[in-house]
Amino acid sequence: TIQVPDAAGKIIRQLNTHGFEAYAVGGCVRDSLLLRVPKDWDITTSAKPEQVKEIFARTVDTGILHGTVTVLMEHEAYEVTTYRIDGEYEDGRHPKSVEFTGNLLEDLKRRDFTINAMAYSERDGLVDAFGGVRDLEAGIIRCVGNPMDRFNEDALRILRAIRFSAQLGFEIERETSKAISAIAPNMEKVSKERIAVELTKLLLSDYPEKMSAVFESGIAPYVSRHFNTAKTGLFQLEKLKMLPSSKHVRWSGLLRFLDPKEAAGILKELKLDNDTVDQVKILSELWKNEIPASKPEIRKVMSRINAPLIDDLLNFQSVFLDGSYLEQLKTVRQYAGEIIDDGDCICLKDMAVTGRDLIQAGVKPGPQMGEILEALLNQVLKNPEHNSREYLLNYSKDLF
Ligand code: ATP
Ligand code: MG
Repeated sequence: TIQVPDAAGKIIRQLNTHGFEAYAVGGCVRDSLLLRVPKDWDITTSAKPEQVKEIFARTVDTGILHGTVTVLMEHEAYEVTTYRIDGEYEDGRHPKSVEFTGNLLEDLKRRDFTINAMAYSERDGLVDAFGGVRDLEAGIIRCVGNPMDRFNEDALRILRAIRFSAQLGFEIERETSKAISAIAPNMEKVSKERIAVELTKLLLSDYPEKMSAVFESGIAPYVSRHFNTAKTGLFQLEKLKMLPSSKHVRWSGLLRFLDPKEAAGILKELKLDNDTVDQVKILSELWKNEIPASKPEIRKVMSRINAPLIDDLLNFQSVFLDGSYLEQLKTVRQYAGEIIDDGDCICLKDMAVTGRDLIQAGVKPGPQMGEILEALLNQVLKNPEHNSREYLLNYSKDLF
């Protein structure tokens, strides 16, 4: 049933021709069996990196020390990694060394979960040594081997377990789940960036309510000191999936009970990009305010955020406010559409008067300039007809 892409199949066959074993492995096998489209196809092989490089014309040394060579084939890039055994883990995150091996089973054994530890090739079929198919069918995330050991080796696997359970809608197997709680303090060793990547994937998934596991297992305090049960969106987590699957909206949804500064603080701590942090901050401020009712009020809100964000805000409100607001939100949506269609001025750059015009009219550059422009914009937001040079220059005379 697994359909290996032509180019990947070619790489595997070519390795076979040279006397090496080779398989598609990990996420692509899992996703194919679930009838999902794999993001990328990783290949695992008994060939050493040097041998891989000799066989293929175009390669890139991606992670030679860990056995990974990227092979370029038919305009696609495939990571080809030598069978390996991870050495002792010293810092709760990374193996001290890796050792290459000729044995596929040893390579599969180092992988995190049974559903991620399967290999497939057209020639040899599916290799499933740890019950991956059984767990896929049952919808279970289970460690390969002893869960305590596996989470002790690498604490990132804790978050990966929860993230996969959210992406696939799976349950975490009991022993695996118990080990997560037991090893939770090791989360301290995982970098904030990696935590952010996993949590974002979790939030954007089909089952974001699985975020509950982050709180229940006791790893939340290692995400951030402020990321605790009392304040965040544990309440009605299942509503998150009704929001569009975009980063700032889902994060805002999760953090909607925090004050905007606190929410932004957590995201900064997690080193999320500034755009996301800013948008979350604005959304968390706005959604708590009263729903804007009149066109001037709506223009005012729109002046602070970009057009897509107003849509986000309305989505947000229709998910989290009760049904009695729906009519009101419909009106806001309609007004917002009209404001855009009519080309009403909603930001400084739409204004009929610029800073330069004001300088010519005698305003000195400096803080006062900003205040005047702001006052003019406010005037125009209230009344779009006032957006003419003549009116605004005249109006500005009263201001300085
Ligand atoms: P995704 O669709 O998110 O890419 P994936 O399963 O391909 O899922 P990757 O992070 O791309 O995940 O890793 C590829 C494979 O490498 C995994 O399927 C798993 O077998 C193995 N792997 C990745 N990270 C770890 C880890 N921290 N510990 C053990 N094995 C891992
Ligand atoms: Mg992958």
